[in-house]
Amino acid sequence: MGGTGLAALDRFDRLSLLDGATPIQRLERLERALGPAAEGVRLFVKRDDLMGIGGGGNKLRKLEFLMGAALAQQADTFITTGGIQSNHGRLSAAVSARLGLACELVLTRVVPRDDTEYRRNGNILLDGLFGATIHELPGSADALAVAEARAAELRRQGRRPYVVGSGGSSPVGCLGYAACAREIAAQQAAVAPGGFARIIVPNGSAGTHAGLAAGFAALGLDPALVHSFTVLAPEAAARSRTLDLARATLALLSDTASLEPDAIRVAGDQLGDGYGLPTDAMFEAVRLIARTEGLLLDPVYSGKAFAGLLAAVRAGAFRPGDAVLFVMTGGTPGLFAYRCAFDPDA
Ligand SMILES: *Cc1c(COP(=O)(O)O)cnc(C)c1O
Repeated sequence: MGGTGLAALDRFDRLSLLDGATPIQRLERLERALGPAAEGVRLFVKRDDLMGIGGGGNKLRKLEFLMGAALAQQADTFITTGGIQSNHGRLSAAVSARLGLACELVLTRVVPRDDTEYRRNGNILLDGLFGATIHELPGSADALAVAEARAAELRRQGRRPYVVGSGGSSPVGCLGYAACAREIAAQQAAVAPGGFARIIVPNGSAGTHAGLAAGFAALGLDPALVHSFTVLAPEAAARSRTLDLARATLALLSDTASLEPDAIRVAGDQLGDGYGLPTDAMFEAVRLIARTEGLLLDPVYSGKAFAGLLAAVRAGAFRPGDAVLFVMTGGTPGLFAYRCAFDPDA
């Protein structure tokens, strides 16, 4: 594997958007609620939903490096893409507001929902509060091409736009999760002295998984500890995108470390009918952790991935003594865009 450490990480421009390491907490009430299947299995969450800007969530880690790069290039406008309920859009808007950058979001109607809650509540409501300009397009539109065209137009006016695609999952953005791998490695001894048997994350634009895998590989730790559940691309496509992105991220960090294809573990069994479409297992997962731990998952990403974790525990995938870490990636505002799905009779 040829781990070379993560000293290279500190050579990148980076903005501090987190207040130190996010906590790792044990889910003892949930363990008890799972009964005999979870006997002796310790479940932990890394609280990446607990961050101080714009409602928090995993995109802030990527934005530390993306905004660092944008400011180094003297950008005055941050442009990015996503779905109508993009958490990345919301957090890009929040951080831009804080930095005094203009923010333009190119959002596509990729989820077949036309109700007012989906179109106006949740993340998109907050985008407006943070002062972002929204360009709304049909689901079939090439959002990145539109974003690039808008950037070209702004450049002609003498402005300095910085463009990144959906989820902020460029190799530079993924460095945020390589930094998170280092953070987890440093926290592990205190919470799970034997180490984590598995680290579970949702997989949308693949940057969270890719960054963690690259970070662990650079540290000489096992990237195959990270398992993701795709909520967007079909399994094979998600796996190859994650591998490509992890390799591109690792190349920024090390000349010698490498990643083998079988180190990238992506499961497709929680995707259901597709991106942004609820599954029964998602509803059950969101309700179970809410009622046992008072914690909030989101309906699009972490709810589906946590359903995958619950299914694995119930299927006996872990042994007594195993410590399993789930990365809570945020996305709470998305719940408000899914009110009619959670509460269909109201
Ligand atoms: C974007 C997002 C994810 C997925 O992260 P990727 O890096 O895009 O794979 C997971 N959870 C939430 C809440 C998100 O907003």
